[in-house]
Amino acid sequence: MARVLVVGGGIAGDTLALMLERDGWAVTVAEIAPAPRAGGQAVDLRGDCREVLDGLGLLPAALECLVPQAGAAWIDARERRLAEMPVTAFDGRGYVSEEELLRTDLARIIHRAAGPGVTHRFGETVEALEDTPDGVRARFRSGTTEEFDLVVGADGAHSRVRALRFGPEERHRKPLGLAHAWFTLPERPGTPRLDGWFLIYNEPGRRSVQARPGRAGEQEIGLTFAADSLPPRQDREARFALLERTFADVGWRAAEFLAAARQAEDFALDTFDQVRMPSWRDGRVVLLGDSAWCASPLSGLGTALALRGAAELATALKSADVPADPGRLPAALASYERTMRPRVTSAQQLPPGRVASMAPATALGIRANALAMRALQSRPLRPLVRRAMAGTEHGRTTTGAAQAA
Ligand SMILES: Cc1cc2nc3c(=O)[nH]c(=O)nc-3n(C[C@H](O)[C@H](O)[C@H](O)COP(=O)(O)OP(=O)(O)OC[C@H]3O[C@@H](n4cnc5c(N)ncnc54)[C@H](O)[C@@H]3O)c2cc1C
Repeated sequence: MARVLVVGGGIAGDTLALMLERDGWAVTVAEIAPAPRAGGQAVDLRGDCREVLDGLGLLPAALECLVPQAGAAWIDARERRLAEMPVTAFDGRGYVSEEELLRTDLARIIHRAAGPGVTHRFGETVEALEDTPDGVRARFRSGTTEEFDLVVGADGAHSRVRALRFGPEERHRKPLGLAHAWFTLPERPGTPRLDGWFLIYNEPGRRSVQARPGRAGEQEIGLTFAADSLPPRQDREARFALLERTFADVGWRAAEFLAAARQAEDFALDTFDQVRMPSWRDGRVVLLGDSAWCASPLSGLGTALALRGAAELATALKSADVPADPGRLPAALASYERTMRPRVTSAQQLPPGRVASMAPATALGIRANALAMRALQSRPLRPLVRRAMAGTEHGRTTTGAAQAA
């Protein structure tokens, strides 16, 4: 039986794992976290997300987890609306969709669908990948060594597989100039309610504070600010200190969110980057998802590309019947890359002003952004926006997408 090692058990890795299992591969998933990773904000179920989940028979489970949405609203410090875009704008095909679920729920649904042919090793990663005449020998952090017919790096934007095989991160990472913290806030008595609205508060100096609906009794919080790099991941204190310094004088609910961030189990902070690579394959090692092509949360397409990429890679391996004829592996990987390349190139082309509108620099910029949001819904512009939405509708994660007209 052909053996594949998938490094990273996120959306891309776990989706590929269950597809390859169904195609007869023995699948090992090495996930660095001690358990399936929770966390993350809303994923838009339209387009690629819906299609791939439907093909896997997982759409009904995803539809059961939809988060009620009323729309997006840009507010001032007293929560007065500067602009709003209801979920019904553009016939329900606007920036916030009626069909959104949390990344946590999507990851759980995919993870649980794996059968006995998938072995998950949590708290595990690869330390070295060495080519052999018939495969790739992986040395694991736990000290064991094993040989595989194929190794897939699905270990996210800061991929170790990419670093081991394709060179250091700096070579491929294109920072977009913003960083984003996100976490889940449990509602307590006295917590202002959102009533389904995704609220966005901007303050001059490129600071944006967002609260959006999560599971019942929870809100998903985002804090966005200008930064190309961050203190090291291990230095949690330096990361919180940076966040607290940056948002110290910011109004609305910023102080409440800063205090809650330290308590949140799923707190995460990262830069908004893109990953751009001339090739995603090297012999029997191939990259998938954010590790290969992170388009950044600003594209709103990270999860859709991860799902589509997993489907295309599985299809290419199956069409070439690689388990029966390993000699066809290079052609299969080339076919996967050919199919995905145009989608990725298009997703990485952020419209002009997208980064700036996520966290405007000045009070004038904030007002102009709100005005633009209102103008987009005006009668003359509506058909244009509808067309633009149809062109990009492959299913989106909506961190920032609502703000990124
Ligand atoms: C916890 C979390 C929350 C997220 N929240 C959002 C969000 O709110 N909005 C948004 O737009 N995008 C978010 N993302 C990114 C989004 O999931 C991806 O853009 C998209 O789904 C592509 O998925 P991926 O599987 O390629 O990467 P990811 O979802 O990043 O998954 C990568 C997986 O690899 C694991 N991993 C990392 N390094 C190693 C290693 N060295 N060895 C083994 N495993 C490793 C990670 O723990 C993770 O499980 C989040 C990602 C994670 C992991």
